[in-house]
Amino acid sequence: MPQPQPRTTEILALLRREFGADLITDAEGLLARSRDESGLVRPPVAVLLARSEAQVARLMTLANKNGFPVIPRGAGTGLAGGCLAGKGGVVLDLAAMNRILAIDTQSLTATVQPGVITADLRDAAKAVGLFYPPDPASLATSTIGGNAATNAGGPACVKYGTTRDYVLGLTAVLPTGEVIRAGANTRKGVVGYDLTRLLVGSEGTLGVITELTLKLIPHPRAAACVAAVFADLNAAMRAIISVMTRGHLPSAMEFLDARCLKLVGDLLPFSVAGEQSALVLIESDGDPDQVRREVAGIEAICRELGATNILPPATTDEGREAVWAVRRSVSTRIHEDCAVYIPEDIAVPIGRIADMVAALPEVEERFGITIFVFGHAGDGNIHLNLTAQDEALRPKVEAAAVDCVRLALKLGGTISGEHGIGLVKRGLLPLEIGPVSLRVQRGIKALLDPQNVLNPGKIFPPEGAEDIP
Ligand SMILES: Cc1cc2nc3c(=O)[nH]c(=O)nc-3n(C[C@H](O)[C@H](O)[C@H](O)COP(=O)(O)OP(=O)(O)OC[C@H]3O[C@@H](n4cnc5c(N)ncnc54)[C@H](O)[C@@H]3O)c2cc1C
Repeated sequence: MPQPQPRTTEILALLRREFGADLITDAEGLLARSRDESGLVRPPVAVLLARSEAQVARLMTLANKNGFPVIPRGAGTGLAGGCLAGKGGVVLDLAAMNRILAIDTQSLTATVQPGVITADLRDAAKAVGLFYPPDPASLATSTIGGNAATNAGGPACVKYGTTRDYVLGLTAVLPTGEVIRAGANTRKGVVGYDLTRLLVGSEGTLGVITELTLKLIPHPRAAACVAAVFADLNAAMRAIISVMTRGHLPSAMEFLDARCLKLVGDLLPFSVAGEQSALVLIESDGDPDQVRREVAGIEAICRELGATNILPPATTDEGREAVWAVRRSVSTRIHEDCAVYIPEDIAVPIGRIADMVAALPEVEERFGITIFVFGHAGDGNIHLNLTAQDEALRPKVEAAAVDCVRLALKLGGTISGEHGIGLVKRGLLPLEIGPVSLRVQRGIKALLDPQNVLNPGKIFPPEGAEDIP
């Protein structure tokens, strides 16, 4: 193990004096926070397992004074390397700040610490008849703070929106160590600039979120999930567009291509015939009668557009969960199965999904790689999983990923629908963000973080490397 630099030794001594046993420096503790789900590994020099906002504020004050980087971390399920340390970085682990402080059944809000696991909040809300809709596929392990920092979405986004739509207000420690309250506890509020929406999605670069006030809604009384099989992905896409444009508002609309289906076939509660078959999952929720009507309409559209098989709708929690668990396992299975794996989460306007999908075979052929396709069809957020079985093909996979991103932009889309930019996509930022916007965004960062100590090196390409790749 390399010896720490003299300055690092000095800072570690300072932090040890300040935080005692909450400062982690043992090899195992550092290793556990040296990776996220991006595949990158960056060991920090120390970890503060924060237990209070006061500790977070103190750490940021010390970081400013002594000029060391601090990297906020929730559960480390991020796919963009956002919570990884750069040289000399101290990871600020917020997982222990995991209390649900209040669920207000009169105002329909929850007040939570950032380390609360997403599924725990959803369960706690459900227990009192309320619903917290954001449902990233990682919800069993990701934290609300991480979800807010990345503005996480999920299948429910098509009807209910992303995490940002549920954050009414938040408390954050600014990079300078000052504490700021943004937003309000109310459903509405237009006082001053909307700093809540600025901090949500800022990937831990503008402030450390230490408390959130979240909007809850009444829990839907019924839900049903339709699983329909189509002969190929293009047919599945046509059905998806029809459902969206013929008066339906599903609470989830996901698809899996034939390759994904093969990978998770053993988990499916039904068998799928046909080499090129694609699966569409469409869920409806709300009042029981309304759900029944909506499901009948959706089934009719799927039949009309050539579904080869439509399973009886899953209406119980267990039945729906069995289907969704399969959907959630797809990316893990791809990761396990392929030597090279680059997940892209581009989003395109809903009307261009079919064009995006139709262009992929040509990309595969040109680069000699394999693309697994699944995703949130209802909001055009297509997960392209570019893979190869041989490490030597990595440069080809990387080049194909840039091609796919360019294609999405050409179709009026965006380079990331929900995973964020972090470290892994910062070089692609100038493809989407023009020079003026980039200058404004860098200016916001410099204003809030004059010493560049909070999560430096994330989102923006290194200065001088802003040429379009
Ligand atoms: C199997 C799998 C499925 C996934 N599915 C989805 C999906 O459907 N939708 C989706 O959006 N994402 C998905 N993700 C990505 C990931 O789960 C989300 O980005 C999630 O929001 C990250 O939460 P986390 O607690 O793990 O944060 P981390 O990975 O620890 O951190 C993510 C970013 O947030 C910052 N951060 C964390 N906590 C705070 C805080 N309190 N204050 C300020 N900044 C903070 C970090 O610095 C970092 O930049 C998936 C990941 C996996 C592995």
